[in-house]
Amino acid sequence: MDGGGSALTLAAPIDHVVIVGGGTAGWMTAAATAHVLANGRRRITLVESDDIGTIGVGEATIPPIRAFNARIGVDEAGFVAATGATFKLGIEFRGWGDRDGRYLHPFGDPGHDFSGVPFHQVWLKHRHRPDVGPLQRYWMSAVAADDARFDRPRADPSLPISQLNYAYHFDAGLYAAHLRRVAEAGGIRRVEGRVAAVDQHGENGHVTYLRLADGRLIDGDLFIDCSGFRSLLLGGTMAVPFQDWSHWLPCDRAVTVPSARRDPLLPVTRSTARTAGWQWRIPLQHRTGNGLVYSSAHLDEDAAAGMLMAGLDGPALGDPRPLSFRTGRRARFWHRNVVAIGLSAGFLEPLESTSIHLVQSGIQKLLALFPDRGFAPVEVDEYNRLMTAQFDAVRDFVILHYKANGRVGEPFWDALRTMAVPDSLASRINLFREKGRLFRYDDDLFSVASWVAVLTGQGIWPRGHDPLVDSLDDQRVLAALAGLADAYSRTAAAMPAHDRFVDYLRASA
Ligand code: FAD
Repeated sequence: MDGGGSALTLAAPIDHVVIVGGGTAGWMTAAATAHVLANGRRRITLVESDDIGTIGVGEATIPPIRAFNARIGVDEAGFVAATGATFKLGIEFRGWGDRDGRYLHPFGDPGHDFSGVPFHQVWLKHRHRPDVGPLQRYWMSAVAADDARFDRPRADPSLPISQLNYAYHFDAGLYAAHLRRVAEAGGIRRVEGRVAAVDQHGENGHVTYLRLADGRLIDGDLFIDCSGFRSLLLGGTMAVPFQDWSHWLPCDRAVTVPSARRDPLLPVTRSTARTAGWQWRIPLQHRTGNGLVYSSAHLDEDAAAGMLMAGLDGPALGDPRPLSFRTGRRARFWHRNVVAIGLSAGFLEPLESTSIHLVQSGIQKLLALFPDRGFAPVEVDEYNRLMTAQFDAVRDFVILHYKANGRVGEPFWDALRTMAVPDSLASRINLFREKGRLFRYDDDLFSVASWVAVLTGQGIWPRGHDPLVDSLDDQRVLAALAGLADAYSRTAAAMPAHDRFVDYLRASA
């Protein structure tokens, strides 16, 4: 693989970093790099085009976003006030397994292990008993979510609330503006203008200058491509090929519309399966975000817009807005002196709210391997290896939802249920079907508990449980389960309503 280093550039200091794009990816990158890199020696410039604008979606996140915000010095109360944010305890899936059924994929982990035996194995053995019931009874985030309650977790592990884990829903435009304030305060220079052409070094192919439409030139040593689906530098100038995953994930369109806020303010993203895709519902303080993700081979744009509007639970606040996308990733993410972060690197549909996390992950890995002088091929290769593994692991988890659907008789869903999936996913499903065993690999973003929630939520059950469970005393286990369910339910009942918590936090900002 060409890591980019050549005799000509190996020793050149990386003094000027140029970020192309001012969407969520661009401003997250700017805020994070300003925090760590901007100093007297190194300059960071962000170029964005007001005419082109941003994609303007991407409003549901997963828990690691909190660490990102904390790292760049964003205070939670100020952030919630500035971005219309609400709290998110997981995702509610409707109609994905059984057409009339629902399940939660909550954040955090359920229960606790029993002498080293994983909690889900204990639950699998006893789940048929009427006094045991669904897994989510033993999951702090799920119990609070079902009651529309929220509170911050406490650190004391003896308290059930220590097991609560959360992320946010926020207004994408307001979040980008918030990050911009952080980045500019940290010394980032913003340039408004459209990149019309890209100059490359004649010998090593590195990007040397961006030519803006008004004739200005922007030079740089490292270029971070945050130009969205255009992938201006990595896909365009560097011609790094795109690996298409549409044979596993055939949805290629979305139509979105905001609607009026609806109370109670739910601390979950909702995903409802529809005839040829699924509809999201994201509760914010000032509106509800809605969108239908669908396959254009099965549904036309007008029908999709009609389906979206018919599925709203409040008055629409605008007209439906169509979007096109392609699911897949670039064959490499860092090539020569260009690193792609965000939609320019790849896209997985937002079923598990992973895109913004992949931005965060790309930034963290870039900072961990940041070049000082020139580009060491071994570091470039490591970045590409890590990001490839991360994208592919998320891909498998997203495909699982489609593969495990129970919507028999609908052509879109029938094709997905019977498709061949990546070997890595097939072997994980097969292992689970045997005795419910699952393992978290190094690159996995999602925990064993997440896999169990989706597999069982959509009706994939193992033939048996791990025989280790039989070494436990059943009566003691059942008493412990009852105690756990009671503790979670009493803890949730003592939490403030989610909307009251949001109001309280806003007021304290
Ligand atoms: P963009 O927002 O498109 O920004 C690109 C930037 O590049 C813009 O500033 C643009 O002006 C600039 N630019 C482009 N070309 C030029 C040029 N020639 N000159 C100068 N500037 C240029 N993610 C989640 O985590 N959760 C979700 O719930 C979620 N929902 C989604 C729903 C849909 C339907 C889609 C399509 C995506 C969703 N995503 C979600 C993904 C999320 O929106 C993106 O990951 C995130 O917004 C980052 O986008 P970006 O910054 O890479 O691209």
